[in-house]
Amino acid sequence: MGSSILLKDITVEGRTSDILIRGGLIEKILPHKNMLDYLQKLSPAIPQKDIRNVDCTGRTAMPGFINMHTHAAMSMMRGMQEDMVFNDWIKSIWEAEKNVDEDYVYWGTQVAALEMIRTGTTTFNDMYWFPRKAMKAAESMGIRPVISSVILDGGDRKTAARQKLQCERLYRSSLQWKGDAVFVVGVHAVYSVSEEMLLWASEFTKENGLLLQVHLSETLKEVNDCKAAHGGLTPVQYLDRLGALSERTIAAHSLWLSPSDVSILGERKVNCVHCIGSNTKLSAGYKFLFNELRDAGANICLGTDGCASAGNLDMMEAMKTSAIVQKAWRGDPMSWPLKELIDCATVNGAKALRLNTGSLEEGKAADILIINTDSPFFLSPAPFLTNLVYSAHSDCIESVIIGGKFVMKDRKIRSEKKVIEHARSIIKRYMN
Ligand SMILES: [Zn+2]
Repeated sequence: MGSSILLKDITVEGRTSDILIRGGLIEKILPHKNMLDYLQKLSPAIPQKDIRNVDCTGRTAMPGFINMHTHAAMSMMRGMQEDMVFNDWIKSIWEAEKNVDEDYVYWGTQVAALEMIRTGTTTFNDMYWFPRKAMKAAESMGIRPVISSVILDGGDRKTAARQKLQCERLYRSSLQWKGDAVFVVGVHAVYSVSEEMLLWASEFTKENGLLLQVHLSETLKEVNDCKAAHGGLTPVQYLDRLGALSERTIAAHSLWLSPSDVSILGERKVNCVHCIGSNTKLSAGYKFLFNELRDAGANICLGTDGCASAGNLDMMEAMKTSAIVQKAWRGDPMSWPLKELIDCATVNGAKALRLNTGSLEEGKAADILIINTDSPFFLSPAPFLTNLVYSAHSDCIESVIIGGKFVMKDRKIRSEKKVIEHARSIIKRYMN
């Protein structure tokens, strides 16, 4: 839960305030004078000497980002498969993953956590092998993980049976998890998972009220192949027929959509995750239907995808690129307005994951970024958020608090050196 922290003289939505953090939550946001009165009332139950005072003069608070789709341990596969078309790329990834073991996932996830914390992500939605190891790695770094039990049977019955069992086991153990990690059933995609398993996952998640994550309509080829294999149904129509689409579904990509697909995703209130870095770099596409999906009723979130496709896990880069590409292809500078963009990177993700975070409000989890605005990027009369998204880089994030604990303070992360050293040795072993 962390100790009590008082962030003094920090700007919150344009006003200088103090933020009191207690029991992992934002307890109060008040002007300094009113906070002193509040603390007076708390004392002697909570002596003021037990509250860690942090001077935040000149700093601005932001809610932490929620990366709604990634494969964290692939952080150690950056740049390995460049300038390749999607289908060759994914085959080469699956080949590279044959040597991935528990150790690789543990340290790869820690490397990802280092990067995510530095770039302001406080919760990440992961989909990778050895999920228990990924969870352990994330928790040791202090970042909140959302963990998928992966289903990718490639039509093989034995694999399907094994993955089903693993999924049921991980779900049962998730009921005892002490922290606030979230369990998700992660079916890879319609082209890599048998109909039998898609149906099973759909029913299993419905029965138990669980989240279901899937890569959906990522490439035009996926859509065309699905239509050919399933009597003209698009991946969205096909999954809908299997009962897999609801407000518990997290649909990574949702890129190649027909008007009927958009209506279905909207009606079912699916959480559609735009991953612009991965989509553009792999030339999967870029015409994400933000306006249409939003107007239809879908909940739109942002993700980076894994480093093997996107190169990095920087949500600030994802925000900026999503908006500028949207504005460019629509020929409309008003598309994807700033406030909605920030929501997609924060509170919309919290809604999808059913987590009490994503905004700076009393009673919410204390997932807070402390931004240093002493840089050229903020020296203008423009609003803070405009400069944060369109001008600054993530190195303006000076400190990060997750669940009421500092996981980065003044750009320092305690275990950074150890993680980098271990990662180097794992990469060396993996290359041999
Ligand atoms: Zn992905």
